[in-house]
Amino acid sequence: MEVLMHLCHHKLCPLLPRTLSRACRRNHHCTPQPSHSVHALAKPVAPTPLVSRLFQPSNLREGQEGGDMTCRSQRLMLQAGLIHPSNPGCFYYLPAALRSMEKLVRLIDEEMQAIGGQKVDMPALCGAELWKRSGRWELMGKEMFRLRDRHDIDYCLGPTHEEAVTELLASQSTLSYRQLPLLLYQVTRKFRDEQKPKFGLLRGREFYMKDMYSFDISEEAALHTYQSVCHAYGRLLDRLGLKWVQVQADTGNIGGTLSHEFHLPADVGEDRLLMCGNCGFSANFETVEPGQADCPQCHTAPLVESKGIEVGHTFYLGTKYSQVFNATFTSAQNKPAVAEMGCFGLGVTRILAASIEVLSSEDSIRWPRLLAPYQVCILPPKKGSKANEAMHLAEELVQSLGNSLLNLKGEVVLDDRTQLTIGKRLKDANRLGYPYVVVVGQKAMEEQPVFEVVCQQSGDTVFLSKDGLLDLLSGAETI
Ligand SMILES: [Zn+2]
Repeated sequence: MEVLMHLCHHKLCPLLPRTLSRACRRNHHCTPQPSHSVHALAKPVAPTPLVSRLFQPSNLREGQEGGDMTCRSQRLMLQAGLIHPSNPGCFYYLPAALRSMEKLVRLIDEEMQAIGGQKVDMPALCGAELWKRSGRWELMGKEMFRLRDRHDIDYCLGPTHEEAVTELLASQSTLSYRQLPLLLYQVTRKFRDEQKPKFGLLRGREFYMKDMYSFDISEEAALHTYQSVCHAYGRLLDRLGLKWVQVQADTGNIGGTLSHEFHLPADVGEDRLLMCGNCGFSANFETVEPGQADCPQCHTAPLVESKGIEVGHTFYLGTKYSQVFNATFTSAQNKPAVAEMGCFGLGVTRILAASIEVLSSEDSIRWPRLLAPYQVCILPPKKGSKANEAMHLAEELVQSLGNSLLNLKGEVVLDDRTQLTIGKRLKDANRLGYPYVVVVGQKAMEEQPVFEVVCQQSGDTVFLSKDGLLDLLSGAETI
């Protein structure tokens, strides 16, 4: 700190008395005078991101420009510089994608904490011993990444954490029924040795997942918790403006007796869904009796098949894991009782890619508006064009948006590539899917300056005064 302060004084305030510097050195802490302290204490103001400086390279490999990309979101995300391929099924998440993902995680935090979820972070390196106790060390087969340490102890890279979290609970000797339900969740990297990773972030070998584990005093309470998590998932997908469907599902190698999946309907989806148009029954194909053509619930309508991308999965586990690990609590009768459990997954990177998959056109990304990496892109006029004089208006606009709209803090970029025409930059902005693109052109030079605003979510273009623009943008929800 001291070094920084002195640097600051010497660089910015050559008139600072030398005595102060000496005093500083002797006392080991700085006491600059008020008129100078501003340099040391002022918060750095984040500069407006400039499009020319954003690290957003096109990441299509040679020969991939054509139609051999496996799905739309993969192609668009590579083209737009959101991801970069690494090993099979692994990607670099580049800055814009990461901004979007961080927003999604904030949204997930809001919804999980609204139902009492508490965030934790468990080790990715999981000892084999736990998995052997639950019987899943063998069961998981080749899908699990396994490794061995220098002491010849086996580990896996966690694909899911039922064993770990139940062991954590079991190690608490003082857990009381008063502390239940307990909902612990994390958002971490998960690993799965997919035989054929494909579809970019939709089916990778390394991905982000939100996994939540619930502990309850009884089956009834656990089912209540189960419903509240399902509702939270629905709310979350609604807030993203996505069409989704909740279907009854197979419990697979997680186990338990009740399970649902949350899907985004999409042709590229790998799951076959069956739905009844009459009573709303919906199920994963795997859970319906072979040859069943009529709805098993209302028996009056045929089941219609569609495809979906699974983005969430919920399981009521009962005591499958808590029994094995002896995860108990002290009941109201002051007796030890085994906790009833549920587990709940959301594919974080999957939601990101799947929403781009279902919302975008062939050549333009459309985001759930809340997740767009930046909300607003401002296009100043082309250098040397007739509208050149409006250049300062663009800069002023960036300033006033930053000063007056708290919701847009850090959400505005300036496309400073003024050697390019507005048309060319508008095309790029359309491709990247900023929800609002503001063109500062000819009309901005009129006596009453007017800005052209392209609302890319609706496809509408409107002409607004600065006040009108501020009014429009003040309504933009951000997270
Ligand atoms: Zn039906």
